[in-house]
Amino acid sequence: MADFGNMPVGTLMAGKRGLVMGVANKNSIAWGISQQLAAQGAELAFTYQGEALERRVRPLVESIGMDFMVPADVTDDAEMDAAFSEISKKWGKIDFLVHAIAFAGKDELQGSMVANTTREGFRRAMDISVFSFIDAARRASQIMPDGGAMVTMTYLGAERTVPSYNVMGVAKAGLEASTRYAARDLGPMGIRVNAISAGPMRTLAMAGIRGGKSLMSTGRDWSLLKEDTSMEGVAGCALYLLSPLGQSIAGEVIHVDAGFHAVGVPDLSDGDEGGA
Ligand code: NAP
Repeated sequence: MADFGNMPVGTLMAGKRGLVMGVANKNSIAWGISQQLAAQGAELAFTYQGEALERRVRPLVESIGMDFMVPADVTDDAEMDAAFSEISKKWGKIDFLVHAIAFAGKDELQGSMVANTTREGFRRAMDISVFSFIDAARRASQIMPDGGAMVTMTYLGAERTVPSYNVMGVAKAGLEASTRYAARDLGPMGIRVNAISAGPMRTLAMAGIRGGKSLMSTGRDWSLLKEDTSMEGVAGCALYLLSPLGQSIAGEVIHVDAGFHAVGVPDLSDGDEGGA
């Protein structure tokens, strides 16, 4: 878990309000980002999915001095309508959106993508992990009259094959393309849309992927920095993209993965004298 006490404190987000979608617990990437944004003066609203989640998330939200929470299952248009209308009623406008939501069935996150992807599983993964961003971007842009910024979360499985990631990799490819198209549509309104491609991190979503442990260890051992992706690094990048520091950046996918994405061949040459 990120240590809020170690987050750089400042005023980069002072006077800015935004919506965070995707806090499930203290390990959620959305929570790490929330702590960093709050430490820089942002005021945050949170969506949650269902009552059980509210009970889990409310104490976190209150721990950073916030209390604005609205229910929103992203597959439910009526709940999304109600959530954005409540935010609009309370705040009038927002300055940023954090989207950190994805889902695929456990059966789909293992073995063969070709064998295990059902029509319904594909539809659900795309709906929750891709359409939800397009939908949230449309709704959020309608309450960003002064411009703003949006960030969504992706993974290397969009660009390269990763064991078990399967239909989620296909969804993330769609999410990255959606980031570019949303950036194109909303750019003229002064809204910057970007994505962060994070390395593997120990969260609920990661726990649903078969072989997640080895994704974590490979992500560390083969990375350029030889370290795990840190929540502080991901949150810092989100702060950069959502704050004035990120001006002129749109339609971008930034890798925060200890350099793993840049590796062509990992160094496994221990004791190898070279030659054929
Ligand atoms: P997480 O804590 O499990 O967050 C995933 C969130 O998605 C949860 O809050 C979950 O809520 C929400 N969600 C799923 N279905 C939903 C629905 N129908 N309506 C509303 N919310 C829904 O895991 P995380 O790792 O922080 O994931 C956040 C994002 O980062 C995801 O897009 C993930 O793909 C991405 N990412 C993660 C990693 C990693 O290694 N962990 C790496 C790169 C990118 P419920 O718990 O209620 O379902």
